[in-house]
Amino acid sequence: MAKKKLIVQKYGGSSVGNVDKLKNVADRVAACAKEGNNVVVVVSAMGDTTDELIELAEQINAYPSEREMDMLVSTGEQISSSLLAMALHRKDYDAISLTGLQVGILTDKYHTKAKILRIETKRIKKELNKNKIVIVAGYQGITDEMEITTLGRGGSDLSAVALAVALKADVCEIYTDVDGIYTADPRIITDARKIECIAFDEMLELAANGAQVIQTRAVEVAKKYNLPLHVRSSFEKKEGTIIMNKNANIEDPLVSGVALTEDEAKVTLCNVSDTPGIAAKVFNELANENINIDMIVQNVSRLKTTDISFTVLKSSLRNAVKKSMELAKKIGSGEVIVDEDIAKISVVGVGMKSHSGVAARCFSLLAKNKINIEMISTSEISISCVLKKSEGKKALKVLHAGFELESKKGSNKK
Ligand code: ADP
Ligand code: ASP
Ligand code: MG
Repeated sequence: MAKKKLIVQKYGGSSVGNVDKLKNVADRVAACAKEGNNVVVVVSAMGDTTDELIELAEQINAYPSEREMDMLVSTGEQISSSLLAMALHRKDYDAISLTGLQVGILTDKYHTKAKILRIETKRIKKELNKNKIVIVAGYQGITDEMEITTLGRGGSDLSAVALAVALKADVCEIYTDVDGIYTADPRIITDARKIECIAFDEMLELAANGAQVIQTRAVEVAKKYNLPLHVRSSFEKKEGTIIMNKNANIEDPLVSGVALTEDEAKVTLCNVSDTPGIAAKVFNELANENINIDMIVQNVSRLKTTDISFTVLKSSLRNAVKKSMELAKKIGSGEVIVDEDIAKISVVGVGMKSHSGVAARCFSLLAKNKINIEMISTSEISISCVLKKSEGKKALKVLHAGFELESKKGSNKK
């Protein structure tokens, strides 16, 4: 007899947003089990539950402790996983829901952004051997001191990928409310095109620069273990997009996709002395606070002082500003200016690696449309520009059209 396949399926918040949607997920999971597969399902919290829980906490305390936040938000996934198990029982399927603690998803101790250290597979395997469908509450883990942690927003994707790696699953499917990865967020760009297959590196850049369809860290782990991911719709049957290890190909387009984020803010330290070691001091101190810096720009003036600007996630802004003000005092620099009114657009494609001119084309397109660029950063396969927030969506449209991403055979070819 052929060996049973092990399939890990992850259903996002939009796929389990209400009772009917949960029943739809139960039908799909049941169908997969009926085909003779072992099925491990990872679920997110229903709809906007996580946001609502965060708002609730903020009504009680504007600065809630991160430990208590994890205690609170991890309940969202416990609700959806138990309800899904009940929906499967109703269909006469044997299913069991498990929390991160019950599975043994061991993480470090950094609340709200914990990293997975190890996953125990014993309990899941035991339940699968009893022919049960195993439903795991996503987004959560446990420290060696039995403290509940969460894995950062969108972290159920990471739970699914890490479980698929630990269990050596045959397939890892990410079910969501779109039928795959598009050349841009289809909610903003209505003629965005679905991509059949995308390289890990491209997906990493898109995700890190605002394409929230899959969590960046989940893609990082999938890349590390070379686990292909299938992103597809929980409401339709058709194939989605495969994210995988892909060698650059002569047929690759120069640009594969564009992304927009409004989640960052810009901090400027003015009149910093233009001497060696200052930048090192500034960014070391920020790193020591676990603050992730995205873009950095330094403008040297003729007066031997410089302005250093950097961008951070708005969620780290309060901390970054506090630290910057302390630093400004310490190094005797000028004021600290904060600008939350920014957006960042990014153009991504492995095809750029071997081709010059993409940056120039990107800047010309923005210039032609009178969009001012405030900061620029590039990598081998991406170009990002910071703009005024009000120009973000327009810039995304201009670049999507300018690189002819809506058509498969545009001038967007090498
Ligand atoms: P889930 O609830 O399944 O985790 P998310 O809301 O986190 O779903 O992600 C799905 C959303 O990501 C889509 O509805 C879509 O608007 C958005 N998105 C952003 N960029 C892209 C892209 N390039 N391709 C597809 N979807 C994208
Ligand atoms: N519920 C969590 C969030 O909203 C995790 C997830 O959905 O992946 O971020
Ligand atoms: Mg998500």
